[in-house]
Amino acid sequence: MKAVQFTEHGDRDVIEYGEYEALEPGQGEVRIEMRAGALNHLDVWTRRGLPGLDLEMPHIPGSDGAGVVESTGEGVTRFEPGDRVALTAGVSCGECEFCRDGDPTLCVSYHVIGEHVRGVHAEYAVVPEDNLISVPEHVDWKTAAAAPLVFQTAWRMLLDRGDLRPSESVLVLGASGGVGHAAVQIADYVGAEVYATASSDKKLSYASETGADHVINYEDENFADEIRSRTGKRGVDMVVDHVGAATWQDSLKSLAKGGRVVTCGATTGGTPETNINRIFWNQLSVIGSTMATPGQVDDVMELVWDGEFEPRIRATLPMSETAKAHRLLEEREGFGKVVVIPDERYDG
Ligand SMILES: [Zn+2]
Repeated sequence: MKAVQFTEHGDRDVIEYGEYEALEPGQGEVRIEMRAGALNHLDVWTRRGLPGLDLEMPHIPGSDGAGVVESTGEGVTRFEPGDRVALTAGVSCGECEFCRDGDPTLCVSYHVIGEHVRGVHAEYAVVPEDNLISVPEHVDWKTAAAAPLVFQTAWRMLLDRGDLRPSESVLVLGASGGVGHAAVQIADYVGAEVYATASSDKKLSYASETGADHVINYEDENFADEIRSRTGKRGVDMVVDHVGAATWQDSLKSLAKGGRVVTCGATTGGTPETNINRIFWNQLSVIGSTMATPGQVDDVMELVWDGEFEPRIRATLPMSETAKAHRLLEEREGFGKVVVIPDERYDG
């Protein structure tokens, strides 16, 4: 089968699309004929290499994807050939104290398909049945592939970890990215007052369309100053920061007394300076979040399937152009998700 793959970490030119040994489904596993995959920023980090990340090479990337069940291994009970499915990439052990306590995202051996183990950007993928959700007939493959990771991440971060209320205000940074545009939609759905930042007026108009009440071009204005002035110096109740080092201090400055910043990523770096005085005096909370529980995935994906939430597709490319997909993410071109299709199924 053909697969996106790389044999060493590095720049975009390490990415290839070529032959990979076909895989058979083992106990509890399902083999899927992939129809679409979607990129996340973690694909960039995985390609570049992370401290402690020890991948079996060649590595197939891809944590988002959707397709048709082609065959099933022994013990699979929920799916059969012909079923339409999408991947939900978090893998937990089911046995540690955190899994037993009901929150698999805290699993001591938690890992993500595509990041820590072989991913799904290939003609076929073999994954545990526990990592699949059903896709209704009326949902197209691009939506099914593009939504799961970012919508589950934003859903848990805002509603469960962040406990966002309708009466509150929230600032979503990087509202043109995958997580950002999901967070804007979810915050709007909750009924909160939504502020959003992006780097161009075109991206900001998209942010408004997806639910932002107020937009700030962070290339033109300091967003913390803007939040202060637009809220009568009060600040917002919650900041959604997946940007990291470049925005962290201004995120804390944007918070109202007693406010909280929620984070699920740090694409510009993970070790910014922090003014601790600001945290204790203003009684701020810093809240981490990652992925979501199966129940949370079901809740948010139901709303995607119903059309309440919609992943925006900024580009659709054949899998052989995955390096270009990485460029779009790294250079922050466009708005929403980048989708890749197996070359033989790609029709432009
Ligand atoms: Zn566990």
